[in-house]
Amino acid sequence: MNGEKKKRIIKTIKVDINKCHGCRACEVACASFHSIPKYSSVNPARSRIRVIRDELNNVFLPIRAGAYTKSECAGRQTYIIDGREYGECNLCNASCPARDLFKEPDSGLPLRCDMCEDDPDLELPKCVEWCLVDALTYEEREEEVDEEVDLNDMEIAVEDLVEKYGLDKVIDTIARLTKKA
Ligand code: SF4
Ligand code: SF4
Repeated sequence: MNGEKKKRIIKTIKVDINKCHGCRACEVACASFHSIPKYSSVNPARSRIRVIRDELNNVFLPIRAGAYTKSECAGRQTYIIDGREYGECNLCNASCPARDLFKEPDSGLPLRCDMCEDDPDLELPKCVEWCLVDALTYEEREEEVDEEVDLNDMEIAVEDLVEKYGLDKVIDTIARLTKKA
């Protein structure tokens, strides 16, 4: 390590669960934006954000897809919100073998929030743009990081896929998607 530092933008989506009313517009916006070609379909199963709903208790929790993990965790955790328990895997953001959440429904490939990487850059991630009650708000800050550990999101996602499916299958899938685009 040579001690070199570089700047990195840290992107954050803040969730105010007291404002979320479970409309699922964020799911629709995300799924539509990430369909291939863009906006060609709307299937919330392809969304990288899912709203965990407890309608009887008026609790709605938007969860964004995190990293793929190849093995389910050995333990479980329970959250207590307003005195009510939300247990097991309800609030976890991982794409993992224990459940179908955050997996592309046709291919089974893991889904992961990319903060809506696009070229040119979006003004706001799609889920934030379409959350009309401001339950989701977007923030950026600059941070110094060691150059060696600055893997970008794309590299991390590809590494995850290669680890799960092997390089050949990932290359085949990309070639197939490229033909569709
Ligand atoms: S930031 Fe973009 S990719 Fe991530 S959940 Fe929101 S809409 Fe989906
Ligand atoms: S769009 Fe906003 S209010 Fe609607 S479910 Fe998503 S986070 Fe909640």
